[in-house]
Amino acid sequence: MYKAKAYSAASATSPLASDTIARRAPTEHDVQIEILFCGICHSDLHSVRDEWGGTVYPIVPGHEIVGRVTQVGSAVTKYKPGDLAAIGCMVDSDHTCPRCKAGFEQFCQNVIYTYNSPDKYKTAPVTYGGYSDSIVADERFVLRVPDNLELAGVAPLLCAGITTYSPLRHWGVTEGKKVGVVGLGGLGHMGVKFAHAFRAHVVVFTTSPEKTEDALRLGADEVVVSRNADEMQRHAGSFDFILDTVSAKHDINAYLNLLCPDGNITLVGAPEKPLDVAAFSLIMGRRSLSGSNIGGIPETQEMLDFCGKHNITADVEVISIQKVNEAYERLLKSDVKYRFVIDMASFKSQ
Ligand code: NAP
Ligand code: ZN
Repeated sequence: MYKAKAYSAASATSPLASDTIARRAPTEHDVQIEILFCGICHSDLHSVRDEWGGTVYPIVPGHEIVGRVTQVGSAVTKYKPGDLAAIGCMVDSDHTCPRCKAGFEQFCQNVIYTYNSPDKYKTAPVTYGGYSDSIVADERFVLRVPDNLELAGVAPLLCAGITTYSPLRHWGVTEGKKVGVVGLGGLGHMGVKFAHAFRAHVVVFTTSPEKTEDALRLGADEVVVSRNADEMQRHAGSFDFILDTVSAKHDINAYLNLLCPDGNITLVGAPEKPLDVAAFSLIMGRRSLSGSNIGGIPETQEMLDFCGKHNITADVEVISIQKVNEAYERLLKSDVKYRFVIDMASFKSQ
């Protein structure tokens, strides 16, 4: 066991504050990583404030992790000290169930998330995430980082990237498809970049008119201010696929009504409160509503390699760890362009 620096929250109403946590020394299949950057996902905020229930305190959030390998266990074959490496939302699973064998570890009944999951090594009651200077994980959950990308912009790919890439691929988003992305935050802006890279016609729906220019720069072909009913109506019945990334309760029927027959809307946003679905929004045109949770390890590696090839990273605002509570307040105001990323070098200045 060794001590690592971290930022943790002691309760749903406490700010994040400096802490020291226990990490296990690498066992034979483990990789130890010095964390260089960690993105701030809205899921971190939902979890810290216990909006979904089940948070165990203290919580150390963070699941968009990039860094450099510092040590490896004796059986590790994929990594050596000095390599770039990344960790996303999962650090372990049972490796034996059909879902794991198919590369869908995110659907494993025994998946271990990067934070707030039971710690089978008993180093701590639960796993601790990436708001820390170091982490240890099984090499099967460590990803290779393309070496041509700017590292701070790579971190958000580990959650915002894969969470948008996976459903766009699953639902066959390609050239000739009309695709909507609802909400231009961390996930939404990656959804726009990927849908554009897949050559779809991309329409962004935003509640923030001042994001219009950015949306076009990020790859949108059109931007709709969703509070404008006339603008919405112009697109009625025309979308093949819509990716909904909104973090708070909103009117999902307004988007279901924009789908063409057999169109699908996939929720990746996970609001605290349930959404109301009118049956007629689905019945008319045999539309469907589904959800998607991150992506498996093989697809996460595929997404990172795709980003390396196409030079895709997140647009980030790099902050020090000491500014994390301010960043949370700005997230709640949709004031993010388009992902906050913590520079872990700031731990050294405390
Ligand atoms: P984010 O950066 O805060 O972006 C959310 C965006 O939603 C905002 O920028 C805003 O965009 C829009 N929005 C916020 N409140 C709204 C409201 N009341 N009505 C309409 N639109 C609103 O959050 P994120 O990190 O992208 O995460 C988004 C959601 O996805 C969160 O709930 C998160 O927990 C969830 N998530 C799910 C997965 C998964 O695997 N399914 C993975 C990661 C995150 P505009 O300003 O453009 O309107
Ligand atoms: Zn996330």
